[in-house]
Amino acid sequence: MDYNKLAELLFPSVTLTVADLEAKYPSRNLPEGARVTRFAPSPTGYLHLGGLFGALTDVMTARLSGGVAYLRIEDTDKKREIDAGVSAILGGLNAFGVKFDEGVTLDGETGDYGPYKQSRRVFIYHAVAKELVQKGLAYPCFCSEDDLSSMRAAQETEGTSIWGYFGKWAKCRDLTYEQIADNIANGKPWVLRLRSDGDDQRRVAFDDQIRGKIEMPENIIDEVLLKSDGVPTYHFAHACDDHFMHTTHVIRGEEWISSANKHIALFKACGFKLPKYAHTPVIMKIDENDGSKRKLSKRKDPEAAVSYFVEQGFPKEALIDYLLTLMNSSFEDWRRANPTADAFSFPFTLKKMSVSGCLFDMAKLTDISKNIISLMTADEVYARTLEWAQSYDAEFASVLSSDEAKAKAIFAIGRGGKKPRKDFATWSEVKDFIGFFYNEYFEYKDGVGDFAKSDVITCLKCYCDTYDASDDQNAWFDRIKAVAEQNGFCPDMKEYKANPDAYKGSVADVSSFVRVAVTGRQNSPDLYSVINILGKAEMLCRINKFTEQL
Ligand code: GLU
Repeated sequence: MDYNKLAELLFPSVTLTVADLEAKYPSRNLPEGARVTRFAPSPTGYLHLGGLFGALTDVMTARLSGGVAYLRIEDTDKKREIDAGVSAILGGLNAFGVKFDEGVTLDGETGDYGPYKQSRRVFIYHAVAKELVQKGLAYPCFCSEDDLSSMRAAQETEGTSIWGYFGKWAKCRDLTYEQIADNIANGKPWVLRLRSDGDDQRRVAFDDQIRGKIEMPENIIDEVLLKSDGVPTYHFAHACDDHFMHTTHVIRGEEWISSANKHIALFKACGFKLPKYAHTPVIMKIDENDGSKRKLSKRKDPEAAVSYFVEQGFPKEALIDYLLTLMNSSFEDWRRANPTADAFSFPFTLKKMSVSGCLFDMAKLTDISKNIISLMTADEVYARTLEWAQSYDAEFASVLSSDEAKAKAIFAIGRGGKKPRKDFATWSEVKDFIGFFYNEYFEYKDGVGDFAKSDVITCLKCYCDTYDASDDQNAWFDRIKAVAEQNGFCPDMKEYKANPDAYKGSVADVSSFVRVAVTGRQNSPDLYSVINILGKAEMLCRINKFTEQL
Protein backbone atom coordinates (compact mmCIF):
# COMPACT_ATOMS: atom_id res chain seq x y z
CA MET A 1 0.00 0.00 0.00
CA ASP A 2 1.13 3.54 -0.69
CA TYR A 3 1.15 4.93 2.85
CA ASN A 4 1.81 8.47 1.68
CA LYS A 5 -1.37 8.34 -0.34
CA LEU A 6 -3.23 6.93 2.65
CA ALA A 7 -1.89 9.73 4.86
CA GLU A 8 -3.17 12.32 2.36
CA LEU A 9 -6.55 10.62 2.28
CA LEU A 10 -6.83 10.66 6.06
CA PHE A 11 -5.28 14.05 6.78
CA PRO A 12 -5.76 16.13 3.62
CA SER A 13 -5.45 19.49 5.35
CA VAL A 14 -2.46 18.67 7.57
CA THR A 15 0.63 20.29 6.10
CA LEU A 16 2.66 20.69 9.27
CA THR A 17 5.34 18.02 9.69
CA VAL A 18 7.09 16.52 12.69
CA ALA A 19 10.25 18.29 11.51
CA ASP A 20 8.38 21.61 11.67
CA LEU A 21 7.33 20.80 15.20
CA GLU A 22 10.87 19.87 16.22
CA ALA A 23 11.95 23.30 14.96
CA LYS A 24 9.09 25.06 16.72
CA TYR A 25 9.86 23.36 20.04
CA PRO A 26 13.66 23.14 20.30
CA SER A 27 15.42 21.55 23.27
CA ARG A 28 15.20 23.60 26.40
CA ASN A 29 18.22 25.61 27.28
CA LEU A 30 18.80 24.23 30.75
CA PRO A 31 21.86 23.27 32.77
CA GLU A 32 23.09 19.69 32.80
CA GLY A 33 20.94 17.51 35.05
CA ALA A 34 18.00 19.94 35.12
CA ARG A 35 14.71 18.10 35.24
CA VAL A 36 11.55 19.09 33.42
CA THR A 37 8.37 17.87 35.06
CA ARG A 38 4.70 18.48 34.52
CA PHE A 39 1.45 18.28 36.40
CA ALA A 40 -1.26 17.20 33.99
CA PRO A 41 -4.70 17.20 35.56
CA SER A 42 -7.99 16.85 33.73
CA PRO A 43 -10.23 19.88 34.28
CA THR A 44 -12.69 18.11 36.53
CA GLY A 45 -12.98 21.03 38.93
CA TYR A 46 -11.78 18.83 41.72
CA LEU A 47 -8.25 18.73 43.07
CA HIS A 48 -7.71 15.48 44.93
CA LEU A 49 -5.19 15.44 47.76
CA GLY A 50 -3.25 12.95 45.63
CA GLY A 51 -3.16 15.60 42.88
CA LEU A 52 -1.62 18.15 45.20
CA PHE A 53 0.83 15.48 46.35
CA GLY A 54 1.80 14.83 42.71
CA ALA A 55 2.02 18.53 41.89
CA LEU A 56 4.29 19.09 44.88
CA THR A 57 6.47 16.20 43.75
CA ASP A 58 6.73 17.78 40.28
CA VAL A 59 7.60 21.22 41.58
CA MET A 60 10.15 19.97 44.12
CA THR A 61 11.82 17.68 41.58
CA ALA A 62 12.19 20.44 39.02
CA ARG A 63 13.15 23.21 41.40
CA LEU A 64 15.90 21.31 43.18
CA SER A 65 17.54 20.42 39.88
CA GLY A 66 17.33 23.93 38.43
CA GLY A 67 14.73 22.73 35.95
CA VAL A 68 11.18 23.61 34.97
CA ALA A 69 7.82 22.41 36.25
CA TYR A 70 4.85 23.21 34.07
CA LEU A 71 1.10 22.76 34.25
CA ARG A 72 -0.69 21.12 31.34
CA ILE A 73 -4.43 20.69 31.22
CA GLU A 74 -5.55 17.37 29.80
CA ASP A 75 -8.97 18.31 28.50
CA THR A 76 -9.46 15.70 25.81
CA ASP A 77 -12.19 13.89 27.69
CA LYS A 78 -15.14 16.26 27.44
CA LYS A 79 -17.27 13.97 29.61
CA ARG A 80 -15.07 14.65 32.63
CA GLU A 81 -14.87 18.38 32.10
CA ILE A 82 -16.92 20.88 34.05
CA ASP A 83 -17.22 24.65 33.84
CA ALA A 84 -14.55 26.41 35.86
CA GLY A 85 -12.80 23.03 36.08
CA VAL A 86 -9.40 24.60 35.56
CA SER A 87 -9.81 27.50 37.94
CA ALA A 88 -10.83 25.16 40.77
CA ILE A 89 -7.61 23.21 40.26
CA LEU A 90 -5.46 26.32 39.99
CA GLY A 91 -7.21 27.73 43.06
CA GLY A 92 -6.30 24.62 45.06
CA LEU A 93 -2.66 24.75 43.95
CA ASN A 94 -2.38 28.48 44.66
CA ALA A 95 -3.96 28.13 48.08
CA PHE A 96 -1.06 25.90 49.09
CA GLY A 97 1.67 27.86 47.33
CA VAL A 98 2.44 25.20 44.71
CA LYS A 99 3.64 27.32 41.81
CA PHE A 100 4.58 26.25 38.31
CA ASP A 101 7.18 27.90 36.12
CA GLU A 102 5.07 27.73 33.00
CA GLY A 103 1.78 26.49 31.63
CA VAL A 104 -1.85 27.29 32.24
CA THR A 105 -2.57 30.15 34.64
CA LEU A 106 -5.76 31.80 35.84
CA ASP A 107 -5.54 34.35 33.07
CA GLY A 108 -4.12 32.44 30.13
CA GLU A 109 -0.78 30.72 29.92
CA THR A 110 2.94 31.41 29.98
CA GLY A 111 5.87 29.61 28.36
CA ASP A 112 7.33 28.80 24.94
CA TYR A 113 6.15 25.21 24.70
CA GLY A 114 2.41 25.77 24.55
CA PRO A 115 -0.41 25.66 23.99
CA TYR A 116 -0.67 24.05 27.42
CA LYS A 117 -4.23 22.80 27.01
CA GLN A 118 -4.51 19.61 25.02
CA SER A 119 -7.68 20.75 23.25
CA ARG A 120 -5.55 23.44 21.59
CA ARG A 121 -2.78 21.05 20.57
CA VAL A 122 -4.75 19.05 18.01
CA PHE A 123 -2.53 20.39 15.18
CA ILE A 124 0.42 18.65 16.89
CA TYR A 125 -1.33 15.29 17.33
CA HIS A 126 -2.50 15.36 13.73
CA ALA A 127 0.96 16.12 12.35
CA VAL A 128 2.45 13.21 14.29
CA ALA A 129 -0.47 10.93 13.37
CA LYS A 130 -0.06 11.74 9.68
CA GLU A 131 3.61 10.84 9.83
CA LEU A 132 2.85 7.55 11.59
CA VAL A 133 0.47 6.71 8.75
CA GLN A 134 3.11 7.66 6.17
CA LYS A 135 5.47 5.21 7.84
CA GLY A 136 2.87 2.45 7.93
CA LEU A 137 2.82 2.56 11.73
CA ALA A 138 -0.82 3.62 12.12
CA TYR A 139 -4.02 2.81 10.28
CA PRO A 140 -7.69 3.80 10.31
CA CYS A 141 -10.14 1.44 11.96
CA PHE A 142 -13.83 1.52 11.07
CA CYS A 143 -15.06 -0.99 13.66
CA SER A 144 -18.27 0.13 15.33
CA GLU A 145 -19.11 -0.31 19.03
CA ASP A 146 -21.07 -3.41 18.00
CA ASP A 147 -18.10 -4.86 16.14
CA LEU A 148 -15.95 -4.35 19.22
CA SER A 149 -18.51 -5.95 21.53
CA SER A 150 -18.74 -9.01 19.29
CA MET A 151 -14.95 -9.15 19.24
CA ARG A 152 -14.91 -9.11 23.04
CA ALA A 153 -17.54 -11.82 23.22
CA ALA A 154 -15.56 -13.98 20.78
CA GLN A 155 -12.39 -13.45 22.79
CA GLU A 156 -14.24 -14.52 25.89
CA THR A 157 -15.49 -17.69 24.22
CA GLU A 158 -12.05 -18.49 22.97
CA GLY A 159 -10.49 -17.63 26.33
CA THR A 160 -7.66 -15.47 24.98
CA SER A 161 -5.20 -14.43 27.65
CA ILE A 162 -5.09 -10.85 26.36
CA TRP A 163 -8.14 -8.84 25.42
CA GLY A 164 -8.26 -6.10 22.89
CA TYR A 165 -7.65 -5.18 19.29
CA PHE A 166 -4.65 -7.19 18.14
CA GLY A 167 -3.47 -9.94 15.80
CA LYS A 168 -6.28 -11.77 14.06
CA TRP A 169 -8.88 -9.69 15.91
CA ALA A 170 -7.61 -6.49 14.38
CA LYS A 171 -9.98 -6.60 11.41
CA CYS A 172 -9.08 -3.24 9.94
CA ARG A 173 -5.34 -3.71 10.14
CA ASP A 174 -5.06 -5.06 6.62
CA LEU A 175 -7.74 -3.13 4.75
CA THR A 176 -6.69 -2.12 1.26
CA TYR A 177 -6.43 1.50 0.19
CA GLU A 178 -9.59 1.04 -1.89
CA GLN A 179 -11.57 -0.36 1.05
CA ILE A 180 -10.45 2.52 3.22
CA ALA A 181 -11.23 5.08 0.53
CA ASP A 182 -14.70 3.55 0.06
CA ASN A 183 -15.44 3.65 3.78
CA ILE A 184 -14.37 7.25 3.97
CA ALA A 185 -16.39 8.18 0.88
CA ASN A 186 -19.39 6.55 2.60
CA GLY A 187 -18.85 8.75 5.65
CA LYS A 188 -17.99 5.86 7.96
CA PRO A 189 -16.44 7.13 11.17
CA TRP A 190 -12.92 5.93 11.93
CA VAL A 191 -10.36 5.97 14.68
CA LEU A 192 -6.62 5.85 14.12
CA ARG A 193 -4.84 2.85 15.59
CA LEU A 194 -1.20 2.05 16.21
CA ARG A 195 0.05 -0.84 14.10
CA SER A 196 1.75 -2.65 16.94
CA ASP A 197 4.83 -4.74 16.24
CA GLY A 198 4.80 -6.10 19.79
CA ASP A 199 5.19 -9.73 20.82
CA ASP A 200 3.82 -10.78 24.20
CA GLN A 201 6.61 -13.33 24.53
CA ARG A 202 9.10 -10.48 24.71
CA ARG A 203 9.44 -8.25 27.75
CA VAL A 204 10.09 -4.56 28.13
CA ALA A 205 11.60 -2.89 31.16
CA PHE A 206 12.06 0.64 32.44
CA ASP A 207 13.78 2.09 35.43
CA ASP A 208 11.09 3.67 37.58
CA GLN A 209 12.65 6.56 39.49
CA ILE A 210 10.82 5.56 42.66
CA ARG A 211 10.31 1.82 42.34
CA GLY A 212 13.41 0.69 40.46
CA LYS A 213 13.27 -1.70 37.49
CA ILE A 214 9.78 -2.60 36.31
CA GLU A 215 9.33 -5.31 33.70
CA MET A 216 6.25 -6.35 31.75
CA PRO A 217 5.32 -8.07 28.48
CA GLU A 218 5.53 -5.97 25.34
CA ASN A 219 2.35 -4.26 24.26
CA ILE A 220 0.64 -6.11 21.41
CA ILE A 221 -2.56 -4.06 21.23
CA ASP A 222 -3.27 -1.78 18.29
CA GLU A 223 -4.10 1.08 20.62
CA VAL A 224 -6.40 3.90 19.56
CA LEU A 225 -4.36 7.05 18.98
CA LEU A 226 -7.06 9.39 17.68
CA LYS A 227 -10.73 9.00 18.46
CA SER A 228 -13.36 9.38 15.73
CA ASP A 229 -13.63 13.12 16.42
CA GLY A 230 -9.88 13.49 15.86
CA VAL A 231 -9.19 13.99 19.55
CA PRO A 232 -6.21 12.00 20.89
CA THR A 233 -6.35 9.37 23.59
CA TYR A 234 -4.37 9.90 26.78
CA HIS A 235 -1.66 7.53 25.51
CA PHE A 236 -1.03 9.36 22.25
CA ALA A 237 -1.28 12.84 23.74
CA HIS A 238 1.16 11.79 26.48
CA ALA A 239 3.78 10.75 23.91
CA CYS A 240 3.37 13.86 21.74
CA ASP A 241 3.14 16.37 24.57
CA ASP A 242 5.90 15.06 26.78
CA HIS A 243 8.14 14.84 23.74
CA PHE A 244 7.58 18.34 22.35
CA MET A 245 7.43 19.94 25.78
CA HIS A 246 10.71 18.20 26.60
CA THR A 247 9.58 16.58 29.83
CA THR A 248 12.48 14.65 31.31
CA HIS A 249 10.59 13.08 34.23
CA VAL A 250 7.00 11.94 33.92
CA ILE A 251 5.76 11.80 37.50
CA ARG A 252 2.27 10.33 37.65
CA GLY A 253 0.04 8.09 39.73
CA GLU A 254 0.78 4.40 40.08
CA GLU A 255 -2.44 3.55 38.22
CA TRP A 256 -0.48 4.26 35.02
CA ILE A 257 2.20 1.60 35.60
CA SER A 258 0.25 -1.05 33.72
CA SER A 259 0.03 1.20 30.64
CA ALA A 260 3.78 1.82 30.53
CA ASN A 261 4.34 -0.88 27.88
CA LYS A 262 1.90 0.97 25.56
CA HIS A 263 3.82 4.20 26.13
CA ILE A 264 7.16 2.54 25.47
CA ALA A 265 5.75 1.20 22.18
CA LEU A 266 4.31 4.58 21.24
CA PHE A 267 7.45 6.58 21.92
CA LYS A 268 9.35 4.03 19.84
CA ALA A 269 6.89 4.23 16.94
CA CYS A 270 7.03 8.02 16.97
CA GLY A 271 10.83 7.98 17.17
CA PHE A 272 10.76 9.94 20.43
CA LYS A 273 13.19 9.45 23.31
CA LEU A 274 11.44 7.81 26.26
CA PRO A 275 11.27 10.12 29.32
CA LYS A 276 12.07 8.80 32.77
CA TYR A 277 9.03 7.62 34.68
CA ALA A 278 8.24 7.95 38.37
CA HIS A 279 4.98 6.38 39.53
CA THR A 280 3.87 7.89 42.82
CA PRO A 281 2.00 5.93 45.49
CA VAL A 282 -1.71 6.38 46.08
CA ILE A 283 -2.70 8.10 49.32
CA MET A 284 -4.49 5.61 51.56
CA LYS A 285 -6.39 5.94 54.81
CA ILE A 286 -7.65 3.68 57.56
CA ASP A 287 -11.41 3.36 57.21
CA GLU A 288 -13.19 4.75 60.30
CA ASN A 289 -15.78 2.00 60.21
CA ASP A 290 -13.98 -1.24 59.56
CA GLY A 291 -10.32 -0.35 60.20
CA SER A 292 -9.30 -1.49 56.72
CA LYS A 293 -6.70 0.33 54.64
CA ARG A 294 -8.18 1.86 51.51
CA LYS A 295 -7.71 4.62 48.95
CA LEU A 296 -8.72 8.12 50.01
CA SER A 297 -12.03 8.35 48.18
CA LYS A 298 -13.59 11.34 46.51
CA ARG A 299 -17.03 9.93 47.28
CA LYS A 300 -16.55 8.94 50.92
CA ASP A 301 -13.88 11.22 52.36
CA PRO A 302 -14.24 15.00 52.54
CA GLU A 303 -10.49 15.22 53.17
CA ALA A 304 -9.83 13.73 49.72
CA ALA A 305 -10.52 17.19 48.29
CA VAL A 306 -7.86 19.87 48.64
CA SER A 307 -10.70 22.41 49.00
CA TYR A 308 -11.56 20.76 52.34
CA PHE A 309 -8.26 21.97 53.81
CA VAL A 310 -8.90 25.46 52.49
CA GLU A 311 -12.40 25.52 53.96
CA GLN A 312 -11.20 24.20 57.31
CA GLY A 313 -8.46 26.81 57.28
CA PHE A 314 -5.34 24.69 57.58
CA PRO A 315 -2.36 26.99 57.07
CA LYS A 316 -0.82 26.22 53.71
CA GLU A 317 2.55 25.51 55.33
CA ALA A 318 1.01 22.75 57.45
CA LEU A 319 -0.42 20.75 54.57
CA ILE A 320 2.78 21.13 52.56
CA ASP A 321 4.94 20.01 55.50
CA TYR A 322 2.60 17.12 56.07
CA LEU A 323 2.73 16.01 52.42
CA LEU A 324 6.52 16.23 52.54
CA THR A 325 6.57 13.86 55.51
CA LEU A 326 4.67 11.42 53.30
CA MET A 327 7.00 12.03 50.36
CA ASN A 328 10.35 11.53 52.11
CA SER A 329 10.67 10.06 55.58
CA SER A 330 13.79 12.17 56.16
CA PHE A 331 11.67 15.35 56.06
CA GLU A 332 10.88 15.29 59.77
CA ASP A 333 14.54 15.27 60.79
CA TRP A 334 15.22 18.04 58.32
CA ARG A 335 12.34 20.07 59.72
CA ARG A 336 13.62 19.65 63.28
CA ALA A 337 17.02 20.93 62.18
CA ASN A 338 15.50 23.74 60.08
CA PRO A 339 12.33 24.78 61.93
CA THR A 340 11.73 28.00 60.02
CA ALA A 341 13.16 27.14 56.60
CA ASP A 342 10.96 27.29 53.48
CA ALA A 343 9.67 23.76 52.94
CA PHE A 344 10.40 24.09 49.23
CA SER A 345 14.13 24.14 50.03
CA PHE A 346 13.97 20.62 51.51
CA PRO A 347 16.37 18.38 49.52
CA PHE A 348 13.64 16.06 48.27
CA THR A 349 14.61 13.01 46.24
CA LEU A 350 12.36 10.82 44.14
CA LYS A 351 14.58 7.84 44.89
CA LYS A 352 13.75 8.01 48.59
CA MET A 353 10.04 8.25 48.05
CA SER A 354 8.19 5.56 49.89
CA VAL A 355 5.95 3.33 47.81
CA SER A 356 4.01 1.75 50.61
CA GLY A 357 3.70 3.97 53.65
CA CYS A 358 1.51 6.64 52.13
CA LEU A 359 -1.17 6.66 54.79
CA PHE A 360 -3.12 9.84 55.43
CA ASP A 361 -3.13 10.65 59.12
CA MET A 362 -5.30 13.59 60.18
CA ALA A 363 -3.93 13.52 63.75
CA LYS A 364 -0.42 14.04 62.44
CA LEU A 365 -1.46 16.87 60.14
CA THR A 366 -3.24 18.49 63.09
CA ASP A 367 -0.10 18.24 65.20
CA ILE A 368 2.07 19.75 62.48
CA SER A 369 -0.45 22.50 62.01
CA LYS A 370 -0.65 23.37 65.73
CA ASN A 371 3.08 23.54 65.83
CA ILE A 372 3.34 25.80 62.79
CA ILE A 373 0.66 28.16 64.11
CA SER A 374 2.32 28.26 67.53
CA LEU A 375 5.46 29.65 65.89
CA MET A 376 3.61 32.48 64.11
CA THR A 377 3.49 36.02 65.47
CA ALA A 378 0.22 37.40 66.83
CA ASP A 379 0.02 39.76 63.84
CA GLU A 380 0.34 36.83 61.46
CA VAL A 381 -2.28 34.76 63.25
CA TYR A 382 -4.60 37.77 63.19
CA ALA A 383 -4.07 38.37 59.47
CA ARG A 384 -4.51 34.70 58.53
CA THR A 385 -7.57 34.17 60.70
CA LEU A 386 -9.15 37.31 59.32
CA GLU A 387 -8.41 36.29 55.74
CA TRP A 388 -10.00 32.89 56.31
CA ALA A 389 -13.00 34.37 58.12
CA GLN A 390 -13.61 36.88 55.34
CA SER A 391 -14.35 33.94 53.05
CA TYR A 392 -15.97 31.51 55.45
CA ASP A 393 -17.37 33.37 58.47
CA ALA A 394 -18.14 36.99 57.64
CA GLU A 395 -19.61 37.73 61.06
CA PHE A 396 -16.49 36.56 62.86
CA ALA A 397 -14.38 38.59 60.43
CA SER A 398 -16.24 41.76 61.33
CA VAL A 399 -16.04 40.99 65.07
CA LEU A 400 -12.28 40.49 64.78
CA SER A 401 -11.61 43.55 62.68
CA SER A 402 -13.85 45.81 64.75
CA ASP A 403 -10.99 46.06 67.28
CA GLU A 404 -7.74 44.99 65.69
CA ALA A 405 -5.63 45.85 68.75
CA LYS A 406 -7.80 43.71 70.99
CA ALA A 407 -7.66 40.74 68.59
CA LYS A 408 -3.90 41.00 68.32
CA ALA A 409 -3.55 41.21 72.11
CA ILE A 410 -5.65 38.04 72.39
CA PHE A 411 -3.45 36.23 69.87
CA ALA A 412 -0.35 37.42 71.71
CA ILE A 413 -1.26 35.49 74.88
CA GLY A 414 1.19 32.64 75.39
CA ARG A 415 2.98 33.35 72.10
CA GLY A 416 6.60 34.16 71.43
CA GLY A 417 8.14 32.36 74.42
CA LYS A 418 10.10 29.11 74.52
CA LYS A 419 6.96 27.02 74.93
CA PRO A 420 4.27 28.71 72.90
CA ARG A 421 0.64 27.66 73.26
CA LYS A 422 -0.41 24.97 70.81
CA ASP A 423 -4.12 25.46 70.85
CA PHE A 424 -5.65 25.55 67.40
CA ALA A 425 -4.75 23.69 64.23
CA THR A 426 -7.04 25.51 61.82
CA TRP A 427 -8.43 29.01 61.41
CA SER A 428 -11.92 27.60 61.71
CA GLU A 429 -11.12 26.54 65.28
CA VAL A 430 -10.07 29.99 66.37
CA LYS A 431 -13.56 31.27 67.14
CA ASP A 432 -14.14 28.43 69.54
CA PHE A 433 -10.92 29.22 71.39
CA ILE A 434 -11.16 32.98 71.60
CA GLY A 435 -14.88 33.64 71.10
CA PHE A 436 -15.42 34.17 74.84
CA PHE A 437 -13.51 37.45 74.62
CA TYR A 438 -16.41 38.85 72.63
CA ASN A 439 -19.89 39.33 74.01
CA GLU A 440 -21.29 38.14 70.68
CA TYR A 441 -19.99 34.65 71.44
CA PHE A 442 -19.57 34.59 75.21
CA GLU A 443 -21.52 31.84 76.99
CA TYR A 444 -21.15 29.72 80.11
CA LYS A 445 -19.97 26.34 78.88
CA ASP A 446 -18.56 24.88 82.09
CA GLY A 447 -19.57 25.01 85.71
CA VAL A 448 -17.27 25.29 88.73
CA GLY A 449 -17.84 21.76 90.00
CA ASP A 450 -18.94 20.52 93.38
CA PHE A 451 -18.57 23.54 95.64
CA ALA A 452 -21.12 25.16 97.91
CA LYS A 453 -22.79 27.97 96.02
CA SER A 454 -22.32 30.32 98.96
CA ASP A 455 -18.56 29.65 99.01
CA VAL A 456 -18.24 30.35 95.30
CA ILE A 457 -20.23 33.57 95.63
CA THR A 458 -18.28 34.75 98.69
CA CYS A 459 -14.92 34.02 97.07
CA LEU A 460 -15.91 35.88 93.91
CA LYS A 461 -17.25 38.83 95.86
CA CYS A 462 -14.07 38.97 97.93
CA TYR A 463 -12.00 38.78 94.74
CA CYS A 464 -13.91 41.65 93.14
CA ASP A 465 -13.63 43.78 96.26
CA THR A 466 -9.86 43.48 96.39
CA TYR A 467 -9.15 43.50 92.66
CA ASP A 468 -6.75 46.22 91.58
CA ALA A 469 -6.19 46.73 87.86
CA SER A 470 -2.70 48.06 88.47
CA ASP A 471 -1.46 44.78 90.01
CA ASP A 472 1.23 42.87 88.18
CA GLN A 473 0.72 39.14 87.73
CA ASN A 474 2.30 38.21 91.09
CA ALA A 475 0.41 40.80 93.06
CA TRP A 476 -2.82 39.73 91.36
CA PHE A 477 -2.23 36.13 92.26
CA ASP A 478 -1.28 37.03 95.84
CA ARG A 479 -4.70 38.59 96.18
CA ILE A 480 -6.33 35.36 95.00
CA LYS A 481 -4.29 33.53 97.61
CA ALA A 482 -5.52 35.94 100.23
CA VAL A 483 -9.11 35.40 99.09
CA ALA A 484 -8.52 31.66 99.40
CA GLU A 485 -7.11 31.93 102.91
CA GLN A 486 -9.92 34.16 104.15
CA ASN A 487 -12.53 31.70 102.93
CA GLY A 488 -11.21 28.35 104.11
CA PHE A 489 -9.37 27.43 100.86
CA CYS A 490 -5.70 26.50 101.09
CA PRO A 491 -3.40 29.15 99.53
CA ASP A 492 -0.50 26.71 99.14
CA MET A 493 -0.78 23.72 96.78
CA LYS A 494 1.84 21.60 98.53
CA GLU A 495 0.18 22.03 101.88
CA TYR A 496 -3.21 21.33 100.31
CA LYS A 497 -2.02 18.08 98.78
CA ALA A 498 -0.64 16.94 102.11
CA ASN A 499 -3.76 17.91 103.99
CA PRO A 500 -6.78 18.12 101.68
CA ASP A 501 -9.42 17.41 104.29
CA ALA A 502 -8.49 20.45 106.31
CA TYR A 503 -9.75 22.79 103.59
CA LYS A 504 -12.79 23.49 101.41
CA GLY A 505 -10.46 23.46 98.43
CA SER A 506 -7.32 25.18 97.21
CA VAL A 507 -6.22 28.42 95.60
CA ALA A 508 -6.49 26.59 92.26
CA ASP A 509 -10.21 26.18 92.89
CA VAL A 510 -10.62 29.86 93.71
CA SER A 511 -8.81 30.73 90.46
CA SER A 512 -11.10 28.43 88.58
CA PHE A 513 -14.17 30.20 90.04
CA VAL A 514 -12.81 33.41 88.58
CA ARG A 515 -11.86 31.69 85.34
CA VAL A 516 -15.27 30.13 84.79
CA ALA A 517 -17.08 33.32 85.76
CA VAL A 518 -15.00 35.42 83.36
CA THR A 519 -14.39 33.05 80.43
CA GLY A 520 -17.29 30.61 80.75
CA ARG A 521 -14.93 27.64 80.73
CA GLN A 522 -12.52 25.65 82.87
CA ASN A 523 -9.73 25.93 80.33
CA SER A 524 -8.57 29.25 78.99
CA PRO A 525 -5.37 31.03 78.09
CA ASP A 526 -3.52 32.73 80.94
CA LEU A 527 -6.26 34.24 83.12
CA TYR A 528 -4.33 37.33 84.16
CA SER A 529 -3.77 38.24 80.50
CA VAL A 530 -7.40 37.49 79.67
CA ILE A 531 -8.60 39.86 82.39
CA ASN A 532 -6.23 42.58 81.26
CA ILE A 533 -7.65 42.41 77.76
CA LEU A 534 -11.27 42.35 78.91
CA GLY A 535 -10.77 45.21 81.37
CA LYS A 536 -12.08 45.60 84.90
CA ALA A 537 -15.58 46.70 83.98
CA GLU A 538 -16.25 43.73 81.72
CA MET A 539 -14.72 41.35 84.27
CA LEU A 540 -16.98 42.66 87.05
CA CYS A 541 -19.97 42.52 84.79
CA ARG A 542 -19.33 38.88 83.89
CA ILE A 543 -18.69 37.85 87.49
CA ASN A 544 -21.96 39.52 88.45
CA LYS A 545 -23.83 37.74 85.72
CA PHE A 546 -22.28 34.46 86.77
CA THR A 547 -23.20 34.76 90.44
CA GLU A 548 -26.76 35.77 89.50
CA GLN A 549 -27.30 32.66 87.45
CA LEU A 550 -25.65 30.28 89.95
N1 GLU B 1 -4.53 13.52 32.92
C1 GLU B 1 -3.97 12.38 33.56
C2 GLU B 1 -4.74 12.14 34.85
O1 GLU B 1 -5.43 13.06 35.28
C3 GLU B 1 -2.53 12.64 33.89
C4 GLU B 1 -1.68 11.45 34.04
C5 GLU B 1 -0.23 11.89 33.83
O2 GLU B 1 0.26 12.65 34.67
O3 GLU B 1 0.36 11.49 32.84
O4 GLU B 1 -4.70 11.08 35.40
